[in-house]
Amino acid sequence: ALSPVTIIGLGEMGQALANVFLQNGYPTTVWNRTAAKAEALVKQGAVLAATPREAIQASPVVILCVLDYDAVHEILDPLGDALKGRVLFNLTNGTPKQARDTAQWAKDRGYDYIDAGIMAVPQIIGTEDAFILYSGGNKNSFDSNKELLDVMGASTYLGEDAGLASLLDLAMNGAMYGMLAGAMHAISVVATEGIKAQAFSSELLIPYLTAITGIIPNLARQFDTKEFTVGVSAKLAMQQVGFRNIRQASKDQGISTELLDPIQSLMDRRVAAGFPDDDFSAVTELFKQAKHQN
Ligand code: NDP
Repeated sequence: ALSPVTIIGLGEMGQALANVFLQNGYPTTVWNRTAAKAEALVKQGAVLAATPREAIQASPVVILCVLDYDAVHEILDPLGDALKGRVLFNLTNGTPKQARDTAQWAKDRGYDYIDAGIMAVPQIIGTEDAFILYSGGNKNSFDSNKELLDVMGASTYLGEDAGLASLLDLAMNGAMYGMLAGAMHAISVVATEGIKAQAFSSELLIPYLTAITGIIPNLARQFDTKEFTVGVSAKLAMQQVGFRNIRQASKDQGISTELLDPIQSLMDRRVAAGFPDDDFSAVTELFKQAKHQN
């Protein structure tokens, strides 16, 4: 028989998570601050608990997915040690510090706490494109529940530091936002000439961006070896000139360059510091300096 599972938090993501457990035949208990959001799930066989405490008591495995850690603590703090003997997987987005603090908090109350970062949107939960990073707590608690966790998306355990899953999640989503912002900027520029966003993105932009991810391994190798002039595909001295054209064309079309300006600044500063032959990977040296200024 499949293990009962409890899902706390039924926003867009929590509903998707509860849904795949129901589809896969897991006895599923749910709780949400706004109970109405459980209606469709109850029709599919979910049990709606009246309180978080009742929800937790229904299953050995509890999955928490709410807006932020304020909401996490609003729900968990009044429960004391009600989670003792259970394992809590917190899929709520937060910082590594929040994850580590909450892990310590859980340890003090005698229960297993594993933090997670969901690398998926609700629409792809339960498909082979979804993956979820886990860290913290006890590796055995992860291993013994891996089959259940894999229902939501391929699960990977990164180690006993509760902050690690969050760190990787946030770093990767930072990259995602850089890419999405760039895509929306490009769409805005070509739209000024009447080019339709959907055709442009599917026929040209996505194939281009997909191919370009192929240079990341080379940039990553340069980063690891600190050899920014080895295996260079484009020198910064050239890129800073070409990048001015990207900004000028954007400006001429009446589209803000606010997204592009900091990238130009990074290239210009690295070249001015005496590194015209470096590849783009060398801007990471400037990120390190920024850390001390923040
Ligand atoms: P929603 O805004 O759709 O849902 C938020 C959920 O948090 C609701 O269940 C809401 O309850 C609950 N909540 C908020 N504040 C409180 C509180 N003070 N006490 C109790 N419950 C509270 O967000 P999502 O479901 O989209 O996201 C949930 C988590 O998943 C977030 O941490 C998000 O970063 C993460 N995530 C989301 C992704 C996505 O694409 N949607 C992708 C990856 C991660 P109520 O219904 O009563 O308002």
